[in-house]
Amino acid sequence: MAIKMTKSRRAVPDADRAKMVAKPGFGKYYTDHMVVAEWTEEKGWGEAELKPYAPISLDPAAMVFHYGQEIFEGLKAYRQPDGGISLFRPEANAKRFVNSAIRLALPPLPEEVFLESIQALVTQDAGWVPGKVGESLYLRPFMFATEVGLGVRPTNRAMYMLIATPAAAYFKAEDAVTVWISTEYVRAAIGGTGEAKCGGNYAASLVAQKEAALKGCDQVVWIDAKERKWVEEMGGMNLYFVKGKGADATVFTPKLTGTLLPGVTRDSILSVAADLGYKVEETMVSVDDWRDGVASGLITEIFACGTAAVVTPVGFAKSAMGEWATGDGKPGPITTQIRNTLLGIQHGTIPDTHNWLKKVL
Ligand SMILES: *Cc1c(COP(=O)(O)O)cnc(C)c1O
Repeated sequence: MAIKMTKSRRAVPDADRAKMVAKPGFGKYYTDHMVVAEWTEEKGWGEAELKPYAPISLDPAAMVFHYGQEIFEGLKAYRQPDGGISLFRPEANAKRFVNSAIRLALPPLPEEVFLESIQALVTQDAGWVPGKVGESLYLRPFMFATEVGLGVRPTNRAMYMLIATPAAAYFKAEDAVTVWISTEYVRAAIGGTGEAKCGGNYAASLVAQKEAALKGCDQVVWIDAKERKWVEEMGGMNLYFVKGKGADATVFTPKLTGTLLPGVTRDSILSVAADLGYKVEETMVSVDDWRDGVASGLITEIFACGTAAVVTPVGFAKSAMGEWATGDGKPGPITTQIRNTLLGIQHGTIPDTHNWLKKVL
């Protein structure tokens, strides 16, 4: 399916854009264009159109405002050593977007339309892709219910949109995050929407995020809804633990039980850690394993991972059951090695043996 192109006549001037891209922040500036496609039950998906970035107009009774039928994705385009631009595993995001749509009773967007929309936007707005290691153009595809009406039922109209924002390097090697293990709130239960990337999961998490901030923590760690003991994820990122040190270390992550979001970064690190020679496990991790593991020294490092921040070390944990540090609370050597390897692959400075990069330009 071809994408209709309507170019902006009011693109940000080169000199202004250069200033924004030099200090991008995250979600502070948006590129000159966006992609929009509309779906109706009668006609299916209409033609996708790239057009100038602008506010949209929706009826106040559009269903998304009332019942939260919405999904999204997040992926990045990285500048390569030859000046080109590549995406990191966009097919995995395309597939997950389909799965999220099915769970939220939204119309699955054909994977090729998802990929073509990204290709078109990144090509058109290539000047917005920053160049330094760790920097990128963050892409945000999303879809929501636009049927007008207050009856509770799956929408018969939906809108797909794609926007992009230049993103700074997130990781400051010196600061590890402090997490709040929430025993009061639950992110996801079996049969719920934990595996889908939907705005509703985040809406339900914000009160816990507020509680975490009151406790002096940066992020929330979620535990399972049923037994209230198994570690699931951290905010919008998956978690990894390191057992032992050096070449004999084991790198492990909570198993996907149906309530965790299956992260592309999580999946990539399973391969990267194995390539680096570590033993790798997907397993059940309890809060007791965590506390006792760091106390005995068996667990040496902990980090969170996701597209936005790539890898973030977890230095301290607080909870109703007490508080404890990971090692000396500083980012560990294996965390740093995994982060640098993944970033190297993304930026084309380390061989991409898994064929994860997809060249755009
Ligand atoms: C997006 C997300 C992740 C990380 O997924 P990536 O594909 O690695 O970016 C983890 N947990 C939640 C809840 C998420 O929404």
